[in-house]
Amino acid sequence: MTTAPSLLVSRNPADPSEVLAEVPAPGAFSTVDAVEQARTAQPGWLLGGATARASALGAIAAAIDSAADELAALAVREVGKPLTEARAEVARTAAIWRYYAQAPYEPAGGVHETAGGPGLLLTRRRPHGVAGLITPWNFPFAIPSWKAAPALAAGNAVVLKPAPEATACAQRLAEILQQELPDGVFTLIPGGATEGNALVSSADVVSFTGSTAVGGAVVGTATGLGVPVQAEMGGLNAAIVLPDADIEQAAAHIAAAIAGYAGQKCTATSRVIAVGAALGPLREALVAALRTLPVGDPADAATVCGPLISEQARDRLEQARKGARVLAGGTSPDVPGWYAAPTLVEDVQASHPLLREEVFGPIATLLPAADLAHAVRITNSVPYGLVTSVHTADLDAALYGLDHVDTGMIRVNAPSTGVDFHLAFGGAKASSYGPREQGRAALEFYTSSRTYTLAPAKTT
Ligand code: NAD
Repeated sequence: MTTAPSLLVSRNPADPSEVLAEVPAPGAFSTVDAVEQARTAQPGWLLGGATARASALGAIAAAIDSAADELAALAVREVGKPLTEARAEVARTAAIWRYYAQAPYEPAGGVHETAGGPGLLLTRRRPHGVAGLITPWNFPFAIPSWKAAPALAAGNAVVLKPAPEATACAQRLAEILQQELPDGVFTLIPGGATEGNALVSSADVVSFTGSTAVGGAVVGTATGLGVPVQAEMGGLNAAIVLPDADIEQAAAHIAAAIAGYAGQKCTATSRVIAVGAALGPLREALVAALRTLPVGDPADAATVCGPLISEQARDRLEQARKGARVLAGGTSPDVPGWYAAPTLVEDVQASHPLLREEVFGPIATLLPAADLAHAVRITNSVPYGLVTSVHTADLDAALYGLDHVDTGMIRVNAPSTGVDFHLAFGGAKASSYGPREQGRAALEFYTSSRTYTLAPAKTT
């Protein structure tokens, strides 16, 4: 008996009646087959040389720049990303490809003296083969690109399995990439857990970004198979505000980090920790900032907070804010589209889900701390460790934060959101597993080192 393939359907979160993509899920066999075909294409891509790879990556950057308006509009419609942020994501995506287009020309290793006798020792980094990439929907162009570009630059072939909610964006990105790359070097496998799991079980190196629950399973499977794996997962990020901070500026940064893109960034702020006398003025400034933050149609360039990705995501948010005292927001407007007002709550018990689990929506909890050391203890008290922002005019306080906060990234007087793609990116504890993404770190991850010994054919 054969069963019909399941359908992948993605909808416009601002107008769920609009379907952006409706494609049959290819299933596990097709996924493994795509990996096999990529494995066949990979040696030609590697041995074609640095110029061929550099040119292709440069051409992809140019093609993304040329299609920038169309790509941004597609992200607005498919994943509800506010237009200004969508434009910034597309510009960053082109920059990522341009950055890694230089990488094929860079040294692939080193030259060493032998420990004794004539000859030469060389180290050389070589690609793993086929990189299996599994990505979330929230950065539908940038995340697939910050994985695929270094993997391809290093000479791997790539199979991408994007999130079903971002299928149309992934299809358009794949079209651009495949126009510039030899056949089989980049393959898109739309799909869900079945295809993702098949990819993890068949690729030579695996890079995952998504929730901590799914990431844990991916890491378990890959490590069981002895396959190199990295996983970037969720966060429960804190902003620490000291009384000496510029409270208006801190509130503006934090409001944007809570509610920008409806809080659907792994780096969003979900806990705001006010130290001592900062509590009163910060509460007032943050409530005002959240109430005036532009919420609405993501196609409007002024919008900061658009819809949530799905009805389930909004239900999860509504469930999460139960039992907390609402200072701002706390409502979901009765309009088409999965919108929710940016929300700040307080008087939340330490065991409340808001302080234990990632909600991935525009909500944060305001918490008091007696002093900076107390604020740092609260920050470090959760299983996650992605990013923290510290708001202060006191250099010693900032340095104390850098020394004691247990997150992969710390940003002083800046929102917790925002990533520089040319530096290593990643978290601590349950937020990350394995080597870092982005920058030079990514090129290391997609390669392994070989040591060559060259001795004379005749020693006398
Ligand atoms: P998700 O975990 O639901 O899905 C991520 C990807 O995994 C999707 O492609 C999905 O289809 C796939 N998948 C699902 N089950 C699988 C399985 N059993 N085996 C293999 N693949 C499987 O996450 P999401 O809802 O798409 O994205 C939101 C999450 O991503 C949030 O937790 C957010 O914090 C996280 N995120 C983290 C970062 C970071 O860099 N740390 C960046 C962006 C998003």
